[in-house]
Amino acid sequence: MNARRTVSILGATGSVGQSTLDLIERSPSSFEVIALTAKQDVSGLAAAARRVNARHAVIADETLIEPLREALVGTGTRVAAGEAAIVEAASLGADWTMAAIVGCAGLRPVMAALRGGRTVALANKEALVSAGHIMMRTAADSGATLLPVDSEHNAIFQCFDRARPAAIRRIILTASGGPFRAASPEAMRSVTPSQAVAHPNWSMGAKISVDSATLMNKGLELIEAYHLFPLEPEAFDVVVHPQSVIHSLVEYVDGSVLAQLGAPDMRIPIAHTLAYPERMNTPCERLDLVSISRLDFEAPDEERFPALALAKAALKAGGAKPAILNAANEVAVASFLDSAIAFLDIARIAQETVDNFDPPAPALLDEVLEIDGEARRRAEQIVRKYRL
Ligand code: NDP
Ligand code: MG
Repeated sequence: MNARRTVSILGATGSVGQSTLDLIERSPSSFEVIALTAKQDVSGLAAAARRVNARHAVIADETLIEPLREALVGTGTRVAAGEAAIVEAASLGADWTMAAIVGCAGLRPVMAALRGGRTVALANKEALVSAGHIMMRTAADSGATLLPVDSEHNAIFQCFDRARPAAIRRIILTASGGPFRAASPEAMRSVTPSQAVAHPNWSMGAKISVDSATLMNKGLELIEAYHLFPLEPEAFDVVVHPQSVIHSLVEYVDGSVLAQLGAPDMRIPIAHTLAYPERMNTPCERLDLVSISRLDFEAPDEERFPALALAKAALKAGGAKPAILNAANEVAVASFLDSAIAFLDIARIAQETVDNFDPPAPALLDEVLEIDGEARRRAEQIVRKYRL
């Protein structure tokens, strides 16, 4: 990379945000940080802003503006607070923006970044699940480059011949299977939040860790892949691969299958998007196939993990269903993390919400957000029924 690129990180205090900062801080001469954002982690945000000398630090929770201001006194960093300020931070025209807010809360900011027409590295899968068509159209209209950060989609992106999509027959997403891959249905009934967030291979935020445990994460990723890579819904498959070494595969019509491999470290796909189309060094562990020695594969069990089947049905149904599924899942996962509902009720709550709400397909961003809000209200009602 030659000139210093300007970068912004939405969700800078999270797991993906911190991994992104780690890479940027190792190459201070390559990057200039425009904006960092968080929801309520004032000390994490302020510390990161000081380290990278960010021009702007923005906190979503408006009540935290004063503590943030105090934490950054004497620096040149400008502070702001509130949801609108996050959207503004996303609109400051950085060459490269990391979209790493968790949940549909990241949708408006990522849309603002896409409208800027630069490069957006997308980790925030919930935004794409809820508003895939709208986001992809906005990216096409503004000329933005949308690069997938999710390890599976980043792998597919690296193997997918965009000039010849008709030559691609199938996309195979790998899934680690999560912490309960081999658990009995009885054991899964009494799973605690701390057991669910203890992922065997990846260290991630709480919400995606629970999604990985239910396999809803893989379901959301199927919908995410469908928007990023133009194939029919039937062309996407999932295979469980417990070692998380192969990050996903692309099968061509001639029978060739291309895969991307690497250590399970999010800094690898993040670095791919940060340097794209060049490559950059990372401190990540190198793949040692001899010490790994074997790779295993199995079919996903949709009976023990009904969330995967639910997401497949939402993908097939299209319209508002993916947004409703995502919203209900966000509510159910938050309730589970609060120890208010049982692990197995997450998928039940998502299913009941999806089955009983059938609005017309949203065409505009505001319509998606309205559906998201209504699905959340309905899911909250259903949560009451399942409350422990
Ligand atoms: P974390 O929970 O670790 O971090 C979330 C970030 O978003 C934090 O900076 C948080 O701020 C901020 N945030 C949360 N809610 C809001 C809100 N309402 N408004 C503004 N900011 C908000 O999540 P992860 O880093 O694990 O995941 C981020 C996204 O990336 C998710 O969509 C996830 O699915 C996806 N992803 C993550 C992977 C991983 O390895 N972690 C892998 C692939 C995809 P604060 O810290 O102040 O709460
Ligand atoms: Mg993933």
